[in-house]
Amino acid sequence: MTDSPLENIPHNSPLQPVKLFLDDTIQFRCHKDIACFNKCCQRIDISLTPYDILRLKKRLGLTSNEFLAQYTVPYEMDASGMPGVKIRTADDNLACPFVTEEGCSVYEDRPTVCRYYALGLMSMRQENSSTDEEAYFLIKEDHCLGHNEPRTITIRDYRKEQEVAHYDEMNREWRQIVLKKRSAGPTIGKPSQRSFQFFFMGSYNLDSFRNFIKSQGFSELYDLKSDEFERLKTDDVALLQFGFKLLKQVLFGENTIPVKSDAMEKRAQQRREQTKADANNPNKDYDGPNMI
Ligand code: SF4
Ligand code: SF4
Repeated sequence: MTDSPLENIPHNSPLQPVKLFLDDTIQFRCHKDIACFNKCCQRIDISLTPYDILRLKKRLGLTSNEFLAQYTVPYEMDASGMPGVKIRTADDNLACPFVTEEGCSVYEDRPTVCRYYALGLMSMRQENSSTDEEAYFLIKEDHCLGHNEPRTITIRDYRKEQEVAHYDEMNREWRQIVLKKRSAGPTIGKPSQRSFQFFFMGSYNLDSFRNFIKSQGFSELYDLKSDEFERLKTDDVALLQFGFKLLKQVLFGENTIPVKSDAMEKRAQQRREQTKADANNPNKDYDGPNMI
């Protein structure tokens, strides 16, 4: 996902500077007998979405902490420092840790970027707009012979073939959060370290997020029905989607999760006391609509 990678691309970039939409056609086919098989997995730069991590950690039988530590490296998604994660490679070998001679060892759970390749997806939101636009672009790398295969396909059908719609659906709210945070720019204040940490946990570290919602502070503040609460303790997909809603509430002050009224009054009192204590600290970072 990107704001618009097609702006200012250098002439030697493999990104083709043409915006494509669902009914546009590309010439491309990838298959096991092609001479370049696995070449695209030898020098990777793969950003992971929250649902990618959910699928991969489950596939590998790891907790999200273990998966993040073993297989990922953090990076900043934009100039404001919005945290992202990429697949980690060895220092002297940029091959994907999941590639084998037979191909991708996690194929059924491969990340969104791998499903889309040789397409890229861009999600855009104009400043002061509340709606997103999705478009695609072609990536033509010299080593990839799939572009010479005699098969044309619409992007709509390519997405079906790669079973990417489910991934996009699972990440939709998260993409909205990322775009909103970016497009809000300075009007919503300087993002604090704390809001980024919360974004990281709600996006990528489901097991830590689950511990957070089981904490006393969480149940004192948020008013969840007991069956929903029990579900969140065991169902990763439900927890992920709940996390996106909570991120919207914490980062943007949207009323996505009901809050206990007495808890609000208690928090307001704490906030008043905190404000008094901070009165002599004019450099205090803005921390967003703080409800965590
Ligand atoms: S996850 Fe699979 S498809 Fe994606 S780069 Fe790694 S080996 Fe290749
Ligand atoms: S055709 Fe392209 S995507 Fe398919 S294996 Fe070859 S390099 Fe990778």
